[in-house]
Amino acid sequence: MKIFTSKSELSDALQDLKAQKKQIGLVPTMGALHDGHTSLINIARQQTDVVVCSIFVNPTQFTDPLDLEKYPRTVEDDIKKLEDAGCDILFLPEVAEMYSQNEKWTIDLGYLETILEGQSRPGHYQGVTQIVYKLFQITSPDKAFFGQKDYQQVLVIKRMVSIFQLPVELVMCPIQRSQEGLALSSRNIHLSPEEKRQAYAISRALFKMKEHASGAHPEKLKEIGLHVLNQEPEIKLDYCEILDKDTLKQPGEGTSGLVALIAASVGQTRLIDNMILN
Ligand code: AMP
Repeated sequence: MKIFTSKSELSDALQDLKAQKKQIGLVPTMGALHDGHTSLINIARQQTDVVVCSIFVNPTQFTDPLDLEKYPRTVEDDIKKLEDAGCDILFLPEVAEMYSQNEKWTIDLGYLETILEGQSRPGHYQGVTQIVYKLFQITSPDKAFFGQKDYQQVLVIKRMVSIFQLPVELVMCPIQRSQEGLALSSRNIHLSPEEKRQAYAISRALFKMKEHASGAHPEKLKEIGLHVLNQEPEIKLDYCEILDKDTLKQPGEGTSGLVALIAASVGQTRLIDNMILN
């Protein structure tokens, strides 16, 4: 695996590969890699010729400085995992390589920025789109791979791609879970065994809602989910919502499907998870 820390060197190398008609696949990450990330690499390998993974803990998408400071960084392990997964190129830039001082970025994300993660973490999606736009400019990927784990993020990036009419295909990849159902996340590292046990209620609630999804009213499904979550009183729920899976609006007539989304804090750790219900 080749490692680049310079954006111009990476760009040049990828231009050469593109000239040889190679399809480029990009997998953006913030590192502390787990099997969720490597599943994205595997899917990218199946669909493209050259897989580029980026590891960059992007400061502009953090709304809490403490969260940024304690975000896990495990670069040596990450490199090994990427090599084992057959990743071709790692892009590992420093902050100064990605940002000049006082850079401004605002795009109109509309409704999507006013709900769920957008509401709980104001500015988060501006930071996400800012860095993903830069990564797209540097790597010009044919396809970019994102996890369903960050469902709203996929819709936000779709909107950005549409605003700028970027020539990239987005691929949403399934959520990888532990045996107990917990969605894999770099932040799970912070959970004590007891907190992990409590956190299982999040995916239990999602599976329970899915089990009852056929024909049930969204409000009823939400009740079912909340009932499961309430069994773990230590969990601090941020939201549990059943929404239209394409628009994240309240489901109504003509809804093509539902997605259930949950955010909750367990101890000091904020977790998100979701499931497409039908
Ligand atoms: P992150 O490093 O948390 O920014 O995640 C990088 C990419 O991996 C994002 O597209 C995430 O949605 C995806 N991802 C994170 N966790 C999982 C998971 N458990 N299953 C599948 N994809 C995931």
